[in-house]
Amino acid sequence: MENSHEALRLILDSITEHIVVIDDMGTIQYANKSWSDFGSNNACSVGGNWRGINYIDECDKAAAMGDDFGEKARNGILSVINKEMPAFYFEYPCHSPDEKRWFMMRVTSLQMSCQDYFVISHQNITERKLAEEEVRNLARLDGLTDIPNRRAFDEFLYNEWRRCLRLKQPISLAIVDLDHFKLLNDIYGHQSGDECLIKIGALLKEFTSRPGDICARYGGEEFALVWGGTSLEQAETLSNRLLEEIHALNINNSDSPINKYLTASVGLAEMVPHLGCNEGELISKADSMLYKAKDQGRNRVEY
Ligand code: GH3
Ligand code: MG
Ligand code: MG
Repeated sequence: MENSHEALRLILDSITEHIVVIDDMGTIQYANKSWSDFGSNNACSVGGNWRGINYIDECDKAAAMGDDFGEKARNGILSVINKEMPAFYFEYPCHSPDEKRWFMMRVTSLQMSCQDYFVISHQNITERKLAEEEVRNLARLDGLTDIPNRRAFDEFLYNEWRRCLRLKQPISLAIVDLDHFKLLNDIYGHQSGDECLIKIGALLKEFTSRPGDICARYGGEEFALVWGGTSLEQAETLSNRLLEEIHALNINNSDSPINKYLTASVGLAEMVPHLGCNEGELISKADSMLYKAKDQGRNRVEY
């Protein structure tokens, strides 16, 4: 079978990887069926016949249109042609209008009749990429409440602080701690406590709709909200509304000396980031304001 030219062609045409072979000038000498089909299914400027097309020129055209893939692919192919590297591969996104897709491109070399040729293959790796993306997202979500966890919060605050520094805008942080939550657990059980945390998480999401906002489970029954580009005055209004809405959830906490329904306390801080300080200061301020809110009788915002 391996001596049959026709059999080898059929094998190459049956595999799902898109394959072309180029010479050392970049001219395509061979394209398999998957390669040609992908081109025609994706409105590629090259028609059905790829033979004779210069692949490096195609990469340059893509680069000139602002496609990040073009330059990387071109440099990779040239480094294998120039024997700077034995092989080259990289992964790139290639999303269609209605579907997320990623591919891996590989370049390897072969010699035939004393002439160098290069095999370029593109393999669809979307399934793996989506799985990786899901793992990454899961690692950033709190398992119980399904809102961002502490780690995601820390990362977000780090970046948002720097964004507000560049834009000379204020950034506000609210730390929310449920009042007498231990009593709620003691009376209604841990599972009711969990259900209540889920409801609070869902409510917090409604308070963070802009790109500069995030809500997160900060730990146990503590939550945090960042509002980038938001003044203390606006953040205070939001925090007070949040406390009203927590109360309006009518979650029983009958032993609480504050109210028969669950309440919360908020420590609020706002800073306009400047050089010489960092987001740690914002957290410390909000933290001490939370202490104050607890100290002053709970169910309130302090700043
Ligand atoms: P304070 O008003 O001073 O904040 O009182 P508190 O009872 O809310 O605070 P404390 O720190 O004494 O207790 C926190 C409680 O939150 C105790 C802990 O069991 C409960 N808790 C923390 N994480 C979870 C959780 O994931 N699920 C449930 N059900 N309870 C939790
Ligand atoms: Mg607490
Ligand atoms: Mg508490």
